[in-house]
Amino acid sequence: MELHQLNVALGALQVLRSNVSQVFESLGNGLRSDHGEDLKESKFIIELQDLLSTVNVNLRDVEQAVSNLQSPPGAFSLGNTTYLSQETTQERQALYSQLVNSYKWTDKIHDYSNLAVSLLSQNSLKRSYTSSGSAKRRRTQTSSHNVLPEAVDNLIVSIDRLYSDMSITPSRPFTTNAILQITLGRVLKAVISLKGLMIEWVFVKGFNEILDLWTESRHRVFRKVTENAHAAMLHFYSPTLPELAVKSFMTWLHSYINLFNEPCKRCGSHIHANLPPTWRDFRTLEAFHEECKH
Ligand SMILES: [Zn+2]
Repeated sequence: MELHQLNVALGALQVLRSNVSQVFESLGNGLRSDHGEDLKESKFIIELQDLLSTVNVNLRDVEQAVSNLQSPPGAFSLGNTTYLSQETTQERQALYSQLVNSYKWTDKIHDYSNLAVSLLSQNSLKRSYTSSGSAKRRRTQTSSHNVLPEAVDNLIVSIDRLYSDMSITPSRPFTTNAILQITLGRVLKAVISLKGLMIEWVFVKGFNEILDLWTESRHRVFRKVTENAHAAMLHFYSPTLPELAVKSFMTWLHSYINLFNEPCKRCGSHIHANLPPTWRDFRTLEAFHEECKH
């Protein structure tokens, strides 16, 4: 509630500031051509009067909003340590405020860790760790970023075979972890950096662009697809089933084969805000515009 009122006050202040700057802008510009020829001075004055009366209203709003705010509770007291603030030595005077700050920090950390604990205990992934009894199950739990290069290569080969219009070429410029270069039809190229079997980073570029691990595409459409690929990478990530995660991601990425000819599932058109449907549903792989996906 308090926060809401603070928001209202800040909003009112923002409106006031913006309208005050309009007064100065109008004043600074002086007479303009759109004031016409006849009576231009009085038109200008009326404009200023209008702006000023708006500012007056805004100011009243700010005062109103501020009067609704509660003043913050008095100084923060930490028991006997308060006496630290009465220290006469110059370099020790700052101690008390530092102490208060660190106290606030620990308090916050406490709050956040409580929240984290309750969130993590709801995590459904946890069950697959604890309910596994068989040896086979245990083997799949080895960390997804600590796997043999051969295992990664085998997976890549098997995924590569699934699609005739998508080629995946692994390379290892930085020793063990693989970099995958993907060419999807004549639509796009992508570079994926893996850490073991975990997808660590993705860049999507146009078919005619040069691929590397550091630069974004020149085209907005592929930057958007890159952004969505990052969301997909996180969505499909699974520490317990890393192979499935990579496969699902690739299936999703492959659905961009129709990036430029599939209409949006929601609005039915091809172009919206100068872009084709750049979103693909994680489950159904249907195409949506960014604005139509919800
Ligand atoms: Zn649409």
